Amino acid sequence: PLLKPGKILDVLEVAQRNSIDIEYIETNASWYKDEASTKAVLKELKNHGVHTLLISIDPYHKEYIPFWKVKALIRACSEAKMNVFPWLMDFWDDIDAMDDRNTHSLEEYTRLFGQDYPVKLLKRYGLNLKGRALKTYAPMMKRQSFEQILEESKPCKLLSGVYHFHVDLYGSFIPQSCPGFSIQLKELMHGADPDKYRIFNSLESIGIRGFVELAKKEYEYIPKAEYAGKCDLCYDVRNYLVLELGLDLPDLKPEGHYKYI
Ligand code: SF4
Repeated sequence: PLLKPGKILDVLEVAQRNSIDIEYIETNASWYKDEASTKAVLKELKNHGVHTLLISIDPYHKEYIPFWKVKALIRACSEAKMNVFPWLMDFWDDIDAMDDRNTHSLEEYTRLFGQDYPVKLLKRYGLNLKGRALKTYAPMMKRQSFEQILEESKPCKLLSGVYHFHVDLYGSFIPQSCPGFSIQLKELMHGADPDKYRIFNSLESIGIRGFVELAKKEYEYIPKAEYAGKCDLCYDVRNYLVLELGLDLPDLKPEGHYKYI
């Protein structure tokens, strides 16, 4: 949200007008350029009622963002009297063992901390194995036959969980556990049409079996012999529909989620 601070300030103004308190803003510090411009942003945030930044600190982010930016942002927050919610300090020493001017791959951490580092990291972080995380870990996961996955199929009820969810810049509801799905929030408030959001509905009401049956029957999806679990199968079908067939399906959005992982 801080790549274009002007935009978030507009959002904060609307929140203030509607008496919505902002507990914190999450950031990965990638936007940090220099002390002066950062302090100017922090001052504006404070003027708009934001007093805490959650700053991501973990090896997954460090594949893309050098650690010096996190350190410099924390320093700027301290001087600007902005609270920092570090997520997670547990990883500080691991990351700090590397050169902070550069990004570092998980392979580099593995070389330094041992072969089992990525698997231990997964547990320490409590990673949700979807999207890029699933792609990273699928080669290390136990394989299951296609038939076994379908036998164990259960409705993916977390898709409709509302105690934690995201809203994207297109005004869409993004379920808490599964990125790459979306439903227009304004439609959802009145009960989304199951005939329009058929994929979402098949997974939420039946589970992976319902989705696979739909994809086989209507889109000629051909399953492989085995997958790294049901979510790997789910992604394989979704990638087939969005990337191979190029379908414009209302519930499989944004396309970028599939294109750029
Ligand atoms: S099978 Fe698909 S919808 Fe269900 S939990 Fe896995 S990724 Fe989410």
